[in-house]
Order: sequence, then C-alpha cells, then structure tokens
Amino acid sequence: SPSKTCRNVVVLGATGSIGCSTLDVIRASNGEFFPFALSAHGRLDDLLKAAIEHQPRFIVASDDAAAEAFDWSTLPEGTTLLTGTAGLQKVASHPETDIVVSAIVGRAGLEGTFAAIEAGKRVALANKETLVVAGHLATKLAAESGAEILPVDSEHSAIFQALKAGREVDVKRVVLTASGGPFRNFTQKQLDEVTAAEALKHPTWKMGPKITVDSATMMNKTLELIEAKWLFDLSVDQLDVVVHPQSIVHSLVEFVDGSFVAQMSPPDMRMPIQLAMTYPERTECPARQLDLNQAISLSFEPPDYERFPALKLGKEVAQRGGTCGAVLNAANEVAVAQFLEGKIRFVDIYRVCRHVLDEHPFESNPELTRLLELDAWAREESNKWITCCLRQAKDQACSNT
Ligand code: NAD
Ligand code: MG
Repeated sequence: SPSKTCRNVVVLGATGSIGCSTLDVIRASNGEFFPFALSAHGRLDDLLKAAIEHQPRFIVASDDAAAEAFDWSTLPEGTTLLTGTAGLQKVASHPETDIVVSAIVGRAGLEGTFAAIEAGKRVALANKETLVVAGHLATKLAAESGAEILPVDSEHSAIFQALKAGREVDVKRVVLTASGGPFRNFTQKQLDEVTAAEALKHPTWKMGPKITVDSATMMNKTLELIEAKWLFDLSVDQLDVVVHPQSIVHSLVEFVDGSFVAQMSPPDMRMPIQLAMTYPERTECPARQLDLNQAISLSFEPPDYERFPALKLGKEVAQRGGTCGAVLNAANEVAVAQFLEGKIRFVDIYRVCRHVLDEHPFESNPELTRLLELDAWAREESNKWITCCLRQAKDQACSNT
C-alpha cells in the first residue's frame, strides 16, 4: 500500500506506448509513485492485467459499450471500475490525485486533460492534441487554477530543460528536432506509393500508430510547433525545425548571444515522463543511458518543406490560431485512420488537411463547445472529401480502360 509521501498518479491511456512507459517509471520508483487510476479504451484485457499487477484504486474503461461486454470478475477487490468520459474526468479531478499523466491519443484526450487542469493538478502532458485543439483555453484555465502543465513530449521536455539556462527575455528562438521519419530520403515519386506498413516502421522511436504516421508525414512536428507556442508562450517567428536523424538531441534553445543549449539522451520516453513527474527533482531513471564510450555521430539538416508539405502548416496554424488547430487536428486524425485502413494514399493526408483548413469557417477566439462542434464538422468534411476523391479516382480508372 502507498506510503505517506507517495504521490498518486492517474494514467489516462495506461495501455498505450506512453502509458506502458509510465507504468515502468512507477514500478522503478520504489513506492514514490502509486498508480491511483488507470484508463484504457480498447484492449481491456491489458487494462485488467495492469489492474491485477498494480492494484489501483480506480480503473476507467472509457468505451462504455466495451466495458459492458467485458468480464471483470477477476478485478481486484480494492479496485473500482468507472466508465466513459465521466470516469476519466472523475479520476483526473479526484481530490486524492496528485499527478495526471495525459497519454490518451488524439482529441479523445481533451476531456480528461481539461478536468485535471481545472482541478489544479500537475499534468504530465503527452497528449499534444489538447494544446493543438484548444491551447488558448487550456493555458488560460491552468493560469486560473494553478495547474502545472509539464511536457512529456521529448522535444518540449528538452526545451523546458534548456530554457533554464537563461532569462526568458534573452531567448532568441527554439529549434525543435525531427528525426525525419522513415521516408526522410524518399523522392516525391516514392512518397506517392508508400504503404501503411512502411509508414509504421519508425527508425528511432517505438510509438502508437497515430503518432508514428504523424512522424512519417512530419505532421507531428507541425503539431509540436503549435504545442511549443502554447507551452512556452513563444511567437511563431521564434519557432524552428531541424532534422536530426539520430533522435539524441531532443531540441535546442538559442539565446540572443548565439549560444545554443541542447538536451541529449537516447530516444526513450521514460526519461521525459519521469522528469514531468519528479520535477524539480531528478532521480535515477529506468530509461536507456547515453553511452559515450561508443562513437556517436550527430547530424543536422534543414527540413524539406516540398516533400513534407504538412510541415508548412505548423507556422500557418500557430500564427492564425483560433479554430485552425481544432480543424487541422480533426482532419489529420480522420486522414491518418483512413490511410492506415488503406483507403487513401500517404500524400492524401496533407491534401485532406489543406482542404479542411481552407474550407472551415474561421473564428479567432472560439469557446470549447464551438471547437468541439468544429471538430465534428471537420471530421465529416474530411470523410466527404475522401469519398469524393475516391469516386473521382475510380471514374478516372474506368475511363482510362
Ligand atoms: P497509443 O496508441 O500507444 O495509446 C493510446 C492510449 O489511449 C491507449 O491506452 C488507448 O486505450 C487510449 N485511447 C485510444 N483511443 C481512446 C479514446 N477514444 N478514448 C479514450 N482513450 C483512448 O498512443 P501513444 O503513442 O502512447 O500516444 C499517446 C499520446 O502521447 C499521443 O497524444 C501522442 O501524440 C503522445 N506522444 C507519444 C509519444 C510516444 O513515444 N509514443 C511521444 C510523444 C508524444
Ligand atoms: Mg515529440
């Protein structure tokens, strides 16, 4: 059972890549952290297994229908099962919760994250989509409630650490590193033909499918640029991207005197996850360590905005703000899912996003309900575009034969 000084951790998305790494950090913490609540959407057998191992106070099966159909008879006696979005909100804002690790993928992570922010919790934020969709509202709410939002995303953790090297007014710019993904050296012609299986093979990181595809299109860097703007209150011209294939330098901060401060560690998310939980303390970490007894080469190259047009959307959307992030995120989620299903081509992901951004009714200062309406609208519009595009492709193929 948890000791007195032990901190209660809620892991939203406990069965995912970040969720599993978080449980590793908790296991290695020797009782400093207690997994107070764990959530999952699908793969409820994994959630049950985690509940049996960790004996949390709560588990949340966020898909009501799936929760209903599942056999919970072996759930530990001290663990209470909650369901749905209400369950996520309840554990995220529970009075005994100290830290919420927000590791649900996509817009689905929004409600739990907002509940944690509203309740003034420490939020270890992996779910970048919350800031992409509603960064202006999340940061405002955190300022009001006293919630701390600490980055889990490795780039943002690096920036957070590097910013400590100087005064805020002396920051010239922040440079996000990107691995370049599996298609870094592909020609346009090759990119036209890549498959979902190829996109899912990331060269340096092992992650969930959505973010892995985002890394391949480099949409991930666009989402991260928007995330950085909100986390660190930067202007768009202070944000840049550099390709660094080794994923060892996780990002850099340039100060006005021309000094760059970087953070380095092997690509292992347990490091930034743990730091977001222990900060300002640092403790030994189960993550892989950098071994300088082996030769390591680090290289940097400018990104190619022509082959990876999704990258262009970062500055555009960060600059325009308002409703742009919400519709971009929704269009991207739909397009990635359809690409993974083999329905559209890799290069169509950007085209869906471009279309939806151009067509959407822009507003500069939307409320959350409006953003969620536009999220739904953008999903519908994306599906319409895809259906129409598929029909045209079919017609063309017919007329060609
Ligand atoms: P994942 O697909 O491995 O796991 C997703 C988790 O969310 C699972 O526990 C799943 O049950 C849950 N989930 C999925 N759909 C849901 C829904 N509709 N409602 C509630 N829960 C749902 O994803 P991941 O790679 O762990 O990524 C999680 C988040 O962390 C993403 O926002 C991603 O961008 C971010 N992130 C991940 C990494 C990484 O290394 N994996 C790095 C940086 C940031
Ligand atoms: Mg990242």
